[in-house]
Amino acid sequence: ALYHIPDVSKPRYVRVNTLKLDLKSALHELGKQNKVHMDDMVPDVLVLPPGTDLHNHPLVTNGSIFLQHLEDLMSPDFKGKASSMVAVALGPKPGWEVLDACSAPGNKTAHLAALMRGEGKIIACELNKDRVTRLANTIKLAGADNVKVLHGDFLNLNPEDPSYSKVRAILLDPSCSGSGTAADRLDHLLPSFNTGHADAADIHRLTKLAAFQKKALAHALSFPAVEKIVYSTCSIHQIENEDVIKSLLPLAKSLGFQLATPFPRWPRRGLPVIEGAEHLLRTDPVEDKEGFFIALFVRTSIKPSEEP
Ligand code: SAM
Repeated sequence: ALYHIPDVSKPRYVRVNTLKLDLKSALHELGKQNKVHMDDMVPDVLVLPPGTDLHNHPLVTNGSIFLQHLEDLMSPDFKGKASSMVAVALGPKPGWEVLDACSAPGNKTAHLAALMRGEGKIIACELNKDRVTRLANTIKLAGADNVKVLHGDFLNLNPEDPSYSKVRAILLDPSCSGSGTAADRLDHLLPSFNTGHADAADIHRLTKLAAFQKKALAHALSFPAVEKIVYSTCSIHQIENEDVIKSLLPLAKSLGFQLATPFPRWPRRGLPVIEGAEHLLRTDPVEDKEGFFIALFVRTSIKPSEEP
């Protein structure tokens, strides 16, 4: 039967905001009331027993711990750990300049700031005005002082503008269908676009989203000093994932980028519809609690013609 059964069998994941609290103290504090241990793959992520509810925990309300839920409007369920893998995959160093292209509500922005220990600069771009407010709130709660919020269209940022000449890494988490998330579990059980059975409205929506995702990725690739780009979606659809990467791979290669392998020990990789699919990372909407996709581009050499 196609109905949503709340999944109470999977562990809960939280991210420790190391700008405010160190891991050891977080383990100690949470350990007073819960069984808790560190995730074996994603740093700063803690694993709690199924059903643990921390919504009103003081460490959550004061921004020391972030629950890995994507959006308030979705189920109050915690999600898997996939959303905390994105910033880690990008791996910005303290002191870098980083651009978060589509950033509200700012969970990954806050994570970037923590990985950079608050050093360097993050430009957090967001198109939607109401969501800019949420972004600003997240940043404030996280204590991420090195973030500059930019209300505008990422596609309209001029890569040649001197303000972006030092941007070394871009996190691109564009609007997507959300088909990998719990709220959309029903969708995921229905025949998908990739199997050719989606209705015309679905196809239209996915095609429009994919067109934006491709434009945004092409735009990210055009920033002159960028060395690393992470592209992510919470979609299970090939058209928003492997197909986007496939269509931009020739441009990426011509600019000196290659696909790199985020979390090499992670077993689930891209669908084998593209050369280099083994570099791509997928999570499973059921097994991992959310369906996520991550691709990582790394530029080892900036070609002479591309040099600023
Ligand atoms: N990375 C965020 C996080 O982890 O909290 C989630 C980002 S959400 C998937 C995508 C965001 O991109 C939305 O807030 C949407 O309003 C924004 N967006 C869509 N088109 C945009 C554009 N052209 N420029 C900037 N932001 C855009």
